[in-house]
Amino acid sequence: MSNPGNHPTDGSCIFCKIVAGQIPCFKLLEDDMTIAFMDINPVNPGHALAVAKGHWPTVDVIPAEVLAAVAKTAQRVAKAVIGELKPHGVNLLQANGEGAGQSVPHLHIHIMPRRPNDGVALNWEYTPGDKAGIEAIYKRLKAVL
Ligand code: AMP
Ligand code: ZN
Repeated sequence: MSNPGNHPTDGSCIFCKIVAGQIPCFKLLEDDMTIAFMDINPVNPGHALAVAKGHWPTVDVIPAEVLAAVAKTAQRVAKAVIGELKPHGVNLLQANGEGAGQSVPHLHIHIMPRRPNDGVALNWEYTPGDKAGIEAIYKRLKAVL
């Protein structure tokens, strides 16, 4: 088991086990802060994950520099997916919390190739919002940024 970056780990987390080499994966690449591997439940061929080596569950708790490293790894994988697999499109997706569909509470970005009419439920029709409602929420957020 290796933990050269001395990052936080959680012994019950499946991605921590992959990072530690305790369970196998189809590893695409690895650097100091991140690892990328194929998703075992691909929505489409080529679905991969860019994963922080450390165990931080969500975007609000991960250090910004680690998040940036995960984004960089996701970009590298996306370039390979786009160049080699030539999908119809690619979504990068990062879920936070069960309400957002997160099933593994260890921060990761999905690199999700898309095919025409693949039925992946990520796209939605535009419905114009109520301006006063948008502004009210905007003011609350602006006040804490
Ligand atoms: P999320 O639902 O956003 O937390 O995504 C978790 C993803 O991890 C899902 O797409 C799973 O298919 C994937 N996954 C879970 N376990 C493994 C594993 N052992 N190896 C590769 N991918 C996995
Ligand atoms: Zn973990």
